[in-house]
Amino acid sequence: MSDCSGGSCSSCSSCGSSDDPDRLPPGMLKVYDLNQSTADGVLVWIETEGFGEDLRMADVSAELLGAARGLSDGRVFGVVFGGQEVKALYPRIFGYGVDTLYHVRERDLEVYRPEGYASCIVSLIKRIEPATVLIGATSRGRELAPRIASELGTGLTADCTGLTADGRRIVMTRPAFGGNLVADIECLRFPQMATVRPGTFPMPEARDGTGTAIYWQFSGGLSKEIMFEETVTESGEDIRDARILISLGDGIRDRSLIDVAESVARKVGGMVSCSRSLVEKGWMPRSRQVGMSGRTVAPEVYIAFGISGAVQHRAGISGAHKVIAVNSDPDAPIHHYADLSLIADAGDILREMDRALRGSRSGKQ
Ligand SMILES: Cc1cc2nc3c(=O)[nH]c(=O)nc-3n(C[C@H](O)[C@H](O)[C@H](O)COP(=O)(O)OP(=O)(O)OC[C@H]3O[C@@H](n4cnc5c(N)ncnc54)[C@H](O)[C@@H]3O)c2cc1C
Repeated sequence: MSDCSGGSCSSCSSCGSSDDPDRLPPGMLKVYDLNQSTADGVLVWIETEGFGEDLRMADVSAELLGAARGLSDGRVFGVVFGGQEVKALYPRIFGYGVDTLYHVRERDLEVYRPEGYASCIVSLIKRIEPATVLIGATSRGRELAPRIASELGTGLTADCTGLTADGRRIVMTRPAFGGNLVADIECLRFPQMATVRPGTFPMPEARDGTGTAIYWQFSGGLSKEIMFEETVTESGEDIRDARILISLGDGIRDRSLIDVAESVARKVGGMVSCSRSLVEKGWMPRSRQVGMSGRTVAPEVYIAFGISGAVQHRAGISGAHKVIAVNSDPDAPIHHYADLSLIADAGDILREMDRALRGSRSGKQ
């Protein structure tokens, strides 16, 4: 016999609660009313890099702020962490279209701490109830976003390569099944969350603007203490910043061609990047890998030497303005994708370029 005492329990169906349209699947927390009309606008986590006077906004955050305005008729909110020095970023943040900026100035959160950042952003989301939350798919963003989604019990589409608005709903596009499919995903709950790859949206024009800044007080506790912090960098350069990329693939059979490519890149003011094959061979560091599991780049010119043009590689170069392919196989898929194709030996062309540019000064284009 059931001990149902009438009306309010959800553990059996005798009182009719199974018909409750608001009832959520077991284990799912009801955070706020999904069908409410107030969930609106876009919240962007504004990631910062550097310290003190060198503090700057991550490019991907600027890109997301630029995109947010086009994705919503509602408000654009920003949340940023850090001390007094963050105020120098306000004009730029407002210039990118933020109406209201929540500045978290907790001393304990001046240094990135995933649990603390997540709990704090969750408390903010509960207050402002945005329809959409966007976070850059950087290493920190990829760590932070799932924590927020899990605390809220909402869905997260990770590593998006496109976003389009359908009213308050956002259609989130991302590669699926190893990049063989491109999936359009909609989240059934609010807030709908996405991490978005750097370079997916163009960098908005830098303007100075005004808006409202609110200091956000975080009252939650932090369960961990940082004993020390060390930043390890391979080099200060990032292939995502390069205007010209000399990119190398498995077709360059001779490792010494990397030096030739570096020499060419220096002369044209570019950088050397690569396909995953060369990273797997241990010839190039992962920070130089372009593609789905590497970096998304958007150079003015991308020259692919001995790269077949697999879909996972192409996923990283969709923002490139001009793609030039140098591949000895006329049937290589990269030729269908390239603006200019050379059916030629990668080594011959690289050495010829290096010879032709002899005498050119570094950085000259
Ligand atoms: C989940 C997943 C994620 C992945 N992520 C990435 C990623 O982020 N980035 C990435 O690059 N790959 C990625 N890959 C791997 C991808 O599928 C391909 O295997 C890889 O891109 C192939 O690299 P490649 O073009 O250098 O080599 P290959 O496919 O072996 O192509 C070499 C090319 O060089 C040409 N060639 C040979 N000799 C010469 C010569 N002398 N001169 C000129 N051309 C020559 C050949 O015709 C060939 O087209 C991923 C795969 C999976 C499953």
